[in-house]
Amino acid sequence: MAVATGREFGLFIDGEMAEPADGDVRDLAEPASGKPLAKAATAGPRDVDRAVGAARAALEGPWGKTPPNERSRLLHALADAIVASRKELAELETRNVGKALSSTKPEVIVAAESFRYMASAIGSIEGATRPIGGSILAYTLKEPVGVAAQVIPWNYPIMLAGWKLAPALAAGCTAVLKPDPATPLTALRLAELAVEVGIPAGVVNVVPGDGPTTGACLVSHPGVDKVSFTGSTATGSKIMRLAADPVKRVSLELGGKSPSLVFADADLEDAVASTAYGIYYSAGQSCDARSRLLVERSVYDDVVNLIAAKAGAVKVGDPLDPETQMGSLISERHREKVHELVETGRGEGAEAVAGGEPLDGGGAFYPATVLAGVGDDTTVAQEEIFGPVLAVIPFEDEADAVRIANDVRYGLMATVWTRDPARGHRLARRIASGTVTINLPYGAFPGIPFGGYKQSGFGREQALETLQLYLETKAVLLSTGTRPSNPWGL
Ligand code: NAD
Repeated sequence: MAVATGREFGLFIDGEMAEPADGDVRDLAEPASGKPLAKAATAGPRDVDRAVGAARAALEGPWGKTPPNERSRLLHALADAIVASRKELAELETRNVGKALSSTKPEVIVAAESFRYMASAIGSIEGATRPIGGSILAYTLKEPVGVAAQVIPWNYPIMLAGWKLAPALAAGCTAVLKPDPATPLTALRLAELAVEVGIPAGVVNVVPGDGPTTGACLVSHPGVDKVSFTGSTATGSKIMRLAADPVKRVSLELGGKSPSLVFADADLEDAVASTAYGIYYSAGQSCDARSRLLVERSVYDDVVNLIAAKAGAVKVGDPLDPETQMGSLISERHREKVHELVETGRGEGAEAVAGGEPLDGGGAFYPATVLAGVGDDTTVAQEEIFGPVLAVIPFEDEADAVRIANDVRYGLMATVWTRDPARGHRLARRIASGTVTINLPYGAFPGIPFGGYKQSGFGREQALETLQLYLETKAVLLSTGTRPSNPWGL
């Protein structure tokens, strides 16, 4: 196989594209058209072993010796290279994932900004001296955790590759990244760019492959020191077990069933338009999709009518058309799963006031869907659908709104719409989620901690807290006394 040329992609191990030793090569098709896209390799156990070995060698070799300022310069250079390749990367991502170019373009930039942020955050890595008294000088050192195994899902491949790799490299770790086997292409290009800008071979390795085989092999590999996972809650639970022996550090970014809460005093037009963005961006295939719309009873009917109209206005179609707002779902199989859940919702008494049926024609398109009259204890109110489906639920008062918002096993994000600032801050404290936004649909920015409460996981992405997940703290104590210490007088 002629790897790294044209439309054939290998594994990325020790600074170069490599053919799989014991993985296979698959044909990838574009989800939006079914047309062939590329041939892409998956990694077997020997490939994973090679990648972890390369990461270890780089850690103990050139990367371990690279001073912080140079690491920072290299991460900035990688950010520049991503920006310079942004058109190619966005198009590749759109063809591979099916999501609209209008989404992948900013996501490529977020990947670049993640490297930029972490390049600067390197300056925050520092130990401390602690005045513990006596003739003892005590201080702490920060050291990289070691080799990081990073597993990411199919919905934001390049953006999440940036979210994962940037803090690991900033901390001085090396990484083996496992993208989903259906969407490995932009992560592989990112690894190529890393080497092109001068990041030493073996610092970034990419081994696409299936979860239960390649992923499990990587996470349980004895040469891995830290596991960072983004994906479903069910898989996150398996990852914790896999990382237990030998003991590894773990952080998990998992699923969500995040609410938008609309109070009667809100600017309803803005709240509803932003709610449409909050659920239908990426065709609802976002961990932080605000997939539940909780509405104060007195404005419930108005809001249902408004959101149905907004859903109908979302531009669905060819993801490469710059005007398209919602592209294809990742696959027809996923579309079937989404539609089955919509049918379950109907069976539970909900009414589809917008969308609700797969779109005709090729590709895995599903319309922006609104389910009204959803009961809080039903499947569509509790389970992550991971598609463009919004469940609208009424509430009576503030206490009821908080109760419903918290009445799911997840806790990733919540958005409150109100003109009362005190209420916004009150609810921010009462809602159990990693992020609360007030009159704003956006919640993820480099520098702002992103992650879950409850079964949405633990650990934070994108912030100084993330950097700490890739650092060990070492305490050093030294006697400054003039007499030798001889505690037992021996
Ligand atoms: P998934 O859990 O099925 O897969 C995620 C990744 O884990 C893939 O690379 C997969 O190959 C791998 N994997 C699967 N089983 C594994 C195993 N046994 N051992 C090791 N690796 C394994 O999730 P998905 O369906 O690809 O992605 C959607 C999920 O990801 C949703 O639940 C979504 O909410 C979540 N997600 C969370 C965030 C976040 O930051 N919280 C961001 C994006 C997506």
